[in-house]
Amino acid sequence: MYDYQAPEQLLKDRVILVTGAGDGIGRAAAKAYAAAGATVVLLGRTLEKLEQVYDEIEAAGHPQPALVPLNLESASEHDYQELAAKLETEFGRLDGLLNNASILGLRTPIDGYDASTWQQVMQINVNGAFLLTQAMLPLLKESDDASVIFTSSGVGRKGRAYWGAYAVSKFATEGLMQVLADEVDGISNIRVNSINPGATRTNMRTTAYPGEPPTTNPTPDDIMPLYLFLMGPDSKGTQGQSLDAQ
Ligand code: NDP
Repeated sequence: MYDYQAPEQLLKDRVILVTGAGDGIGRAAAKAYAAAGATVVLLGRTLEKLEQVYDEIEAAGHPQPALVPLNLESASEHDYQELAAKLETEFGRLDGLLNNASILGLRTPIDGYDASTWQQVMQINVNGAFLLTQAMLPLLKESDDASVIFTSSGVGRKGRAYWGAYAVSKFATEGLMQVLADEVDGISNIRVNSINPGATRTNMRTTAYPGEPPTTNPTPDDIMPLYLFLMGPDSKGTQGQSLDAQ
């Protein structure tokens, strides 16, 4: 596991947006960021799941989060602009963005991969993250220490049979991360990096490996050290890196 122990209140007074915050790794990250003192903006497509995370954060006495039910598959450029305007009005700042939401799509050969599923995977995993990040950049540029994290995968660095659009979307994610990191480097206070969580105990992992005993892999909470490190000030100067959480 990535070796980092976050100081208490690492993210105090920061506002951090997490996508796919209702379940799996995004849920754990939202709660870890809130526990570190951040006001977390919970974005996801299933309101009930977001509400549950919201309640857990409130019950723990952490800063009150914000709820943003939004489907990255259907959201328009206008929706993202509207969200940026809302964050500006409500908080006047944004210091971090964790692009975490993704879908797996099909695990079949390219020869026969369903074209509409291909487009759906690319829309959520790549285009949605691009549009959201682009809309948030003006706010992030105003922060004196901002971090953007993209979520990759082992199959986003080395292609593997039957991983189809998911693998291609993760290669694209690494590309987007590298291009943006190079663009902001030296001219802003934004750092941009990607995390490969590694095999982690979530619904997505169970769908990809239905025969695997769930306890084989670490939980989302176990992999939080890298998520905290990259979101907080201790990672200042880390730019354009593809890092492994395990
Ligand atoms: P989960 O499927 O457990 O959670 C994904 C989250 O993304 C869910 O909250 C889901 O919402 C949300 N989401 C999916 N589609 C949309 C959408 N269209 N709009 C808004 N939100 C959406 O996945 P993990 O937690 O396992 O994965 C998190 C990230 O880590 C992903 O980027 C994944 O590719 C990556 N990853 C995971 C690995 C693992 O072993 N778990 C390994 C390598 C990479 P809802 O709950 O409503 O479905």
